[in-house]
Amino acid sequence: MKQLIKSVLPQIVIKKYRAYRAYKKYRGNEVLCPICNSSYKKFAPFGTSKRESRKCHNCGSLERHRLIFLYLIEKFNFFNNNSKNKIRLLHFAPEKMFYKIFSENKGIEYTACDLFPKKYNGKTKIIKADITKIPFEDNSFDFILCSHVLEHIPNDRLAMSELHRVLSKKGDAILQVPIDYKREKTYEDPNITSRKERLQEYGHPDHVRYYGRDYRARLESCGFNVNVDHFISSLSKKDIFKYGLLETELIYHCKK
Ligand SMILES: [Zn+2]
Repeated sequence: MKQLIKSVLPQIVIKKYRAYRAYKKYRGNEVLCPICNSSYKKFAPFGTSKRESRKCHNCGSLERHRLIFLYLIEKFNFFNNNSKNKIRLLHFAPEKMFYKIFSENKGIEYTACDLFPKKYNGKTKIIKADITKIPFEDNSFDFILCSHVLEHIPNDRLAMSELHRVLSKKGDAILQVPIDYKREKTYEDPNITSRKERLQEYGHPDHVRYYGRDYRARLESCGFNVNVDHFISSLSKKDIFKYGLLETELIYHCKK
């Protein structure tokens, strides 16, 4: 019956109904999404474990998105760039909630790329590009954001080298991946090719490895200077709860 209703109703109606249902169920002021400024009693569960309070009911942000957003504000004053030099930002596999904000910000010269570009409403066209063959000159960008992309790329070292190449000499890159900190070494096996096996071994049907604690060394081997920033420790317990963040999450802030 659910499937039948889904197939008959337009997407917009389903979306509005879901938003209304979330509003009724989760209305409150305990948590706040810093990206879209929406408050709720708690965020929605998400992922295979359906862990509680992860996803924003409005913009769909997860813990990692909210952490990056706060980091951009706190460390780089990213959204208040009044200098006449815009921040040349390269964003790989743009997340929808960021795309809108970046593309509308007057201090940012925004370049969004994806191997399979999605159609988002906005004035910035998403360019079809392969991260292992980035179609831009050396030193083209002041800032690169590439979050949860490299774990999908078979030749991730080539992708890292390409990101390093197009980053400007004084530029900053945030290169996030899922990491299993219990593993010393990254786990990857080219013989694991089916979606079923990848889900079982790497926790996701599209991932081609599970990074371990050597992720930093891998970035360094491609030329980056890496600052593994435990930014979250600068936030109060109260804010960590309010913004729905993961206390163990580290930020890989890379420079040339
Ligand atoms: Zn939100």
